Amino acid sequence: MDKKAALVVFSGGQDSTTCLYWALRHFDRVVALTFYYGQKHALEVEIAEQIARQAGVEWTKMDVSFISSLSTGCSLTDTSLTIEEEKPADALPSTFVPGRNLFFLSIAAVRAREMGIQHIVTGVSQTDFSGYPDCRDNFIKSLNVTVNLAMDEQFVIHTPLMWIDKAETWALSDELGVLDLVRHNTLTCYNGIVGDGCGHCPACKLRREGLEKYLSSINR
Ligand code: ZN
Repeated sequence: MDKKAALVVFSGGQDSTTCLYWALRHFDRVVALTFYYGQKHALEVEIAEQIARQAGVEWTKMDVSFISSLSTGCSLTDTSLTIEEEKPADALPSTFVPGRNLFFLSIAAVRAREMGIQHIVTGVSQTDFSGYPDCRDNFIKSLNVTVNLAMDEQFVIHTPLMWIDKAETWALSDELGVLDLVRHNTLTCYNGIVGDGCGHCPACKLRREGLEKYLSSINR
């Protein structure tokens, strides 16, 4: 196992791009793995490739679109559904893809093992939650134990954003010297618009509020 190498689960959005640069600071070798899971905006995968290549890291993609055929009712993958602006009380948002991080991280661990990589990085956060259970720290810790037991390995799953909010994620990207890159080149918007996005979907709202909070905190 190469202890100085990390595999980043990489979507090309704000969070995983910040994690990619975080990994570049902490590891000698960084590999980005992008999943195609049937998301409506296949542009995501192209954006991810562009960002990874620009960052000079190895990039691979994997088609796991079977995930979207396992369950119905997710507005990120079902073209007949629109994304609601507010999530209903006591319900998971329509953007929840059941099992997504379970599959992503399990597959990432197998892939990392194949590449001789011990460290896995993911941009999940339970602070700026959208209510996704598979973004919580207890799930990640549990899965870390599970993949280690499954393969008799010593993987370490890193979650640099777990306990920070969106404003602090912007602060981290600024500290890493990539705030402008993250702001203009990444795709977080549920409507598939790069950079500042459509402005009104839940992802854009969260991203913009975080950016405004961070920029006002440093008077910029
Ligand atoms: Zn949007």
